[in-house]
Amino acid sequence: MSTAQDKPLNILFAAKQERWAQYEQPLKTAFDAFGLIAHLATDIAPEEVDYIVYAPNSPVQDFSVFPELKAVLNLWAGVEDVVGNRTLTAPLCRMVDPSLTDGMVEWVTGHVLRHHLGMDSHILGQDGVWRAGIVPPLAQDRKVVVLGLGELGLACARSLAALKFDVHGWSRSKKEIQGVTHHTEVDNALAVAEIIVLLLPLTPETTNLLDARRLGVLPEGAVIINPGRGPLIDDDALLAALATGHVAHATLDVFRQEPLPKGHPFWAHPNVTVTPHIASETRAVSASRVIAENIRRSENGLPLLHVVDRTAGY
Ligand code: NAP
Repeated sequence: MSTAQDKPLNILFAAKQERWAQYEQPLKTAFDAFGLIAHLATDIAPEEVDYIVYAPNSPVQDFSVFPELKAVLNLWAGVEDVVGNRTLTAPLCRMVDPSLTDGMVEWVTGHVLRHHLGMDSHILGQDGVWRAGIVPPLAQDRKVVVLGLGELGLACARSLAALKFDVHGWSRSKKEIQGVTHHTEVDNALAVAEIIVLLLPLTPETTNLLDARRLGVLPEGAVIINPGRGPLIDDDALLAALATGHVAHATLDVFRQEPLPKGHPFWAHPNVTVTPHIASETRAVSASRVIAENIRRSENGLPLLHVVDRTAGY
């Protein structure tokens, strides 16, 4: 795992200040493990910076001041807030981390099972009424659609298929996935979605993907689960579809504005579940290993992993 280095690498950690306490030791441990000699800090003279470990909400927004920059390693899977930054000409790598994926699989599976099994009627309805006779179908008779079959969507689709759900998916490129029916036309996927999970990146093509027309394509009583990004859904169209019951429930982890403002109608809506962008968090220990491995590859002349396609936007 060693790397031929003639001088320590300068790695700038550019994220919210409180993140440094979380990441400093895991990054140092991971760099040691990968045989990298590095100076890791939150403040380095710009002309000396080799790599930036980055969160898009960091104060660093002008990358033109880093003349030696070799790559930006994003701490997040989503890159919509940095991908269009014209000052960034070095490669941008997004976060692909097994723990991030595992966290998303757990969150998505849990929320799909909640709606599939109708758990609310028993958990919330402890009122002495014996509600027998309402038996949920088996998973094999429940169609779950996953929009976006990338690192996270694919893992969720596989996990749901392993539980025997009738899983369908949609992505730009065709995929052969055992137990998952792939659709190339989004309307065909929407038309069968009893439960729909959004794991698309936010790009100009996916913004407002679920608008009034496409929400209308969903079967009556569909459930939406969105751990992707808020603007994938037109909020007003969703509220209208919830009002008629065409959409039975929306479980939303991500929003156009975060934190979701106090007065937003989603908070008080009986058929909306709000979670505070916690579907899956980047974990410092595993993410640090991903970052160190990528820098080691770069220093050894190997191609970087998980490089963002700046034209596609993800
Ligand atoms: P990814 O690996 O880049 O996968 C994106 C998927 O979306 C790919 O299958 C891609 O198709 C598909 N796609 C993109 N644009 C499309 C379009 N216009 N039409 C059809 N399909 C399209 O991303 P990921 O790692 O799975 O992450 C997905 C998103 O999850 C992130 O961008 C982020 O917004 C969100 N996220 C949320 C949380 C949270 O805690 N809530 C945590 C992490 C990530 P191809 O396969 O054909 O390229």
